[in-house]
Amino acid sequence: MFLSGAFLVKNFNNMMIIDTHAHLDFPEYKTDLDSVLSRAREAGVGSIINVGTSLSTSKKCIALAHRFENIYASVGIHPHGATKVSEETWLELESLIGGSKIVAVGETGLDYYRNKSPHEDQQVLFEKHLALAKKHDLPVIIHCREASEDCLKILNKYKNGGLKGVVHCFSGTAEVAKACLDLGMFLSFAGPITFKNAQNLRDIAKTVPVERLLLETDCPFLSPHPKRGERNEPSYLSLVIPVFAEIYGLSPEDIARITSFNAYALFGIGEPELEGKIAYAIRNSLYINLTNRCSMECSFCMRTTYPFVKGHNLHLKREPTIEEVLQSIGDPGRYDEVVFCGYGEPTERLEVLKAVAADLKSKGKRIRLDTNGHGDIINGRSIANELKGLIDTICISLNAETAEKYAAICKPVFGEKAYFALIQFVKDAKKVIPNVQVSVVEIPGIDIKKCREIAVELGVDFRVRKHDVLG
Ligand code: SF4
Ligand SMILES: [Zn+2]
Repeated sequence: MFLSGAFLVKNFNNMMIIDTHAHLDFPEYKTDLDSVLSRAREAGVGSIINVGTSLSTSKKCIALAHRFENIYASVGIHPHGATKVSEETWLELESLIGGSKIVAVGETGLDYYRNKSPHEDQQVLFEKHLALAKKHDLPVIIHCREASEDCLKILNKYKNGGLKGVVHCFSGTAEVAKACLDLGMFLSFAGPITFKNAQNLRDIAKTVPVERLLLETDCPFLSPHPKRGERNEPSYLSLVIPVFAEIYGLSPEDIARITSFNAYALFGIGEPELEGKIAYAIRNSLYINLTNRCSMECSFCMRTTYPFVKGHNLHLKREPTIEEVLQSIGDPGRYDEVVFCGYGEPTERLEVLKAVAADLKSKGKRIRLDTNGHGDIINGRSIANELKGLIDTICISLNAETAEKYAAICKPVFGEKAYFALIQFVKDAKKVIPNVQVSVVEIPGIDIKKCREIAVELGVDFRVRKHDVLG
């Protein structure tokens, strides 16, 4: 369903959102910049990247960044002005890099729609920006309009050795989006994503993992519905976020948190959560993270290298007590479901799991356990009966169709017997838990059909999980 603009969400649970592309130095804000910024704050916009389009606007961006704590600058020359760039201008632009609060190079790229500069000049200037960004290890902000083929060709030339950036106000096809993602790029979409006739753009946005999505206004241009045609401003991100929430099937708070985390990852602005979370929300579910310990080392697991899921840090400094878990949960009233999950195996902490589940059950909550199915060997006894009446649904990672393959992919500390233990656990759980499901992660070499047959034989549901989608 397409959301009407009347659904204006202000301030997403005090979560900071980041406008990664604004032009607040433009004359449109000459008289009321302070009120624009105060409306931005009210709408939860914590930081803004003001993007240069010429040497002079780049200098203005830097001046704004020095004047306002929450504004950061990007310096660059828009492809429209590519013909006019003298060596002197370029050297001066280069000399700006290194100053404080300059977080990116751009906007640069190719614009074959307006064709304000010859293609060749645009290409030369684009390459200069890419080389500059790489030299200073800065992300690049790319403008690409009706020039995807050449844009990708040039990006491919520079892809090795740390090229990073965002293709802003993305307007290409799903194939181009994929090519940009393959190059490691982030993508951002401005106000047009909210237009009634932009279903195609929303369908393309849906193919972009939310972990690669950034928010931007490109203000003063491209106001979202229902402000279309008016001057845009950072506070209007509150009209864009609910549309992304619909596209991704997430909550507006999820979109705010995830895109802010993404902006941190690319531009280094803002702060990620430093402490691992015990209880964390995604959509209408509350997830409980009891431990970082796990009896496996799955090849696809990011537990030790990048323990973030949907913008939440899950790396616990220490394991929480029952009381700390309950305190972290607070009032579970607003959640449809509570899930024991996290980057670690919940049955490593069976007693805490049972005590917390009992408390939540007494409050009428629906409870799910995501497990690797090693609970019996971890605890030295059959545990399914102990979960009876506490857990409504158990999802067990089957991960492979044979014990050998399982051992190779998941490296269980218990060796090959782990696979047989998990199969036994599925059988025991099926007797006492209302819903039991096994899952596999879609990775090369796994025979999904055979895994499905195993599930059918066991009489449980089967689910295929996407490799790069967590939470
Ligand atoms: S079972 Fe889960 S937490 Fe453990 S290594 Fe595998 S993916 Fe990571
Ligand atoms: Zn712009």
